[in-house]
Amino acid sequence: MKFNIIKTDRSARVCLIETERGKINTPVFMPVGTVGTVKAMSPEELKEMGAEIILCNTYHLYLRPGHEVVSSLGGIHKFMNWDRTILSDSGGFQVFSLSALRRIEENGVHFKSHLDGSMHFIGPKEAMEIQSSLSSDIAMVLDDCTPYPSSYEYAQESLERTIKWAAECKRLQKAGQALFGIIQGSLFEELRRRSAEELVDMGFDGYAVGGLSVGEPKEEMHKMIYFTAPLLPPDKPRYLMGIGDLKDVLIAVETGFDMFDCVMPTRNARNGTLFTSKGKISIKREEFRSDRGPLDPDCECYTCRNYSRGYLRHIFLSKEILSMRLNTIHNLYFYFNFFRNMRKSIIEGIFTEFKTKWEAIL
Ligand SMILES: [Zn+2]
Repeated sequence: MKFNIIKTDRSARVCLIETERGKINTPVFMPVGTVGTVKAMSPEELKEMGAEIILCNTYHLYLRPGHEVVSSLGGIHKFMNWDRTILSDSGGFQVFSLSALRRIEENGVHFKSHLDGSMHFIGPKEAMEIQSSLSSDIAMVLDDCTPYPSSYEYAQESLERTIKWAAECKRLQKAGQALFGIIQGSLFEELRRRSAEELVDMGFDGYAVGGLSVGEPKEEMHKMIYFTAPLLPPDKPRYLMGIGDLKDVLIAVETGFDMFDCVMPTRNARNGTLFTSKGKISIKREEFRSDRGPLDPDCECYTCRNYSRGYLRHIFLSKEILSMRLNTIHNLYFYFNFFRNMRKSIIEGIFTEFKTKWEAIL
């Protein structure tokens, strides 16, 4: 994997990541393809919008259909017909957020499947094996996602596990697959610093920050983003995990983060919440009943070019499948366009103006 900084505007930066499967211009938004599909979208549609990388969830693919099945069908790219870059998470976050029952041990975590209640175990070895048989381009280390709130003692103990597991994952890294370390440490600066230092010493292909947006107040999260970014080496990609609220993205990009993933645009689309250049709207509202205008007059997506708000409201209330598709096309297009314009503003040296303008809208 190659990484080059193209342009900086204070700490914000435009970079180019190159994997064997193509180029990724950052700051980048990675749509979430949880079980091997970005919900409601075909790979062709994603490419047309400008998607250069998507994320898949190891936890989900491991439980169903099983990584051996994905492997026997040619690996994750062939399986889902996506020939560009794929980042797989390690499953850590889902084990902590979805599984009702889990028992953490020094070597990994026992957990109960949210699908059928069966018991499973994932440790660093298993996480790397699963991601290797999926054949993702970028793998993530298994981390112990510290819940919020946590005491200093617990956060420290949890961080020690994360560091130990990261070293084990690093030892098991396969040639041809990039591996990112994950900084944890809850809301404790001292722990975040230690986490960054130890992981940087191990030498990963990129660095992610995890354990944020897990219920803490926004101000605390922003404080941690500002604190953590400068601890990460400038010559590697920086990935802020699971954060995709565009207001938070603006802050993170300002501090020098490059990569983002979030279910927000796709999940909101299915729930009828749509992003526009004038702010968020709920398409089900009565005021749109006879509205013949496009969803967003400033948007050039397929949905906005062809359908009225009145129609989108009608098919949403009728629970039509097309509603999910048209809404998702629009929201993802909006995100890609936002990131494209954000990169342009960094290249032109006017990121601060871009940020101020959008903070007033979002
Ligand atoms: Zn649109």
